[in-house]
Amino acid sequence: MTDKRRHRLLTVARAWHLTPGMIRVTFAGKALEGFPEDREGANCKLLLPEPGETHNAFAERLNNGPPPVRRTYTVRHFRPELLELDIDFVDHGDTGPASAWARAAKPGDFLGFAGPGPVKVAAFGADFYLLAADMSAIPVVAATLEAMPRDARGLALFDVPSDRDIQQIAAPDGVELRWLIQRDAHHSAQAAAIRAMDWPAGRVQTCIAGEHGTIRDLKDYLIGTRQLPKGDAYISGYWKIGLVEDDHQALKRSEAA
Ligand SMILES: Cc1cc2nc3c(=O)[nH]c(=O)nc-3n(C[C@H](O)[C@H](O)[C@H](O)COP(=O)(O)OP(=O)(O)OC[C@H]3O[C@@H](n4cnc5c(N)ncnc54)[C@H](O)[C@@H]3O)c2cc1C
Repeated sequence: MTDKRRHRLLTVARAWHLTPGMIRVTFAGKALEGFPEDREGANCKLLLPEPGETHNAFAERLNNGPPPVRRTYTVRHFRPELLELDIDFVDHGDTGPASAWARAAKPGDFLGFAGPGPVKVAAFGADFYLLAADMSAIPVVAATLEAMPRDARGLALFDVPSDRDIQQIAAPDGVELRWLIQRDAHHSAQAAAIRAMDWPAGRVQTCIAGEHGTIRDLKDYLIGTRQLPKGDAYISGYWKIGLVEDDHQALKRSEAA
């Protein structure tokens, strides 16, 4: 069930580069009391203060507007015993307000948080799992791999900009993790690798997310050509080259209509 609170005002406990391209921000404190458990992989909305905005001014704006900039992220870990929440931000420079906020984040900084929603893959019943992520989707795919039955079989493909961006993920032994080094975030090797693989027998479930163009190509292949039932196929565009998130979300709605 979705947390019905409108938002929480979260405080940064620590922020650091987990890998060269990924910033982990850990939020902590009483504002996380009552945060729902087992939502790793669920999405949430982050409401961002303006640079230099005071805590009081931002708290007032959260309640009474004008609304802050919102961006969609993923719950990576929640530790209820410590009241700590991790969110992983792709470091794609200072052009996006969310990436810029994370690059500058330090203990005591704050933002607004709404959600989380439901997890993306809640039931596991496949003979074979096909997972694929670019940097923005490592959190959802990693959380899904960690939640899977330990006897699951499958393949997980990750596009990362360097071998230093490879992460440790507690995946089942039967799921191969394949890291594809893509120095340019505007190129993906996932679609070619998926089209080239021997298609597995039995029921296939997916957890795939990344850049809009790659995802559209993979949707055509997996739902169009391979006829995967939509209920077994979590496949979602997380960002689009050249568009800010609001325009990308508007494009997704118009394509779905
Ligand atoms: C359900 C869902 C879950 C998501 N979870 C995460 C998550 O856990 N971690 C995460 O980092 N992202 C995640 N994303 C993607 C994130 O919402 C977008 O990348 C968002 O655009 C970032 O906001 P921004 O303010 O940094 O950039 P924006 O202001 O939205 O965009 C500014 C510019 O940056 C470019 N850009 C945006 N994202 C990227 C990127 N990843 N790489 C290169 N260029 C980019 C845009 O094309 C645009 O030109 C998720 C998206 C969805 C829909």
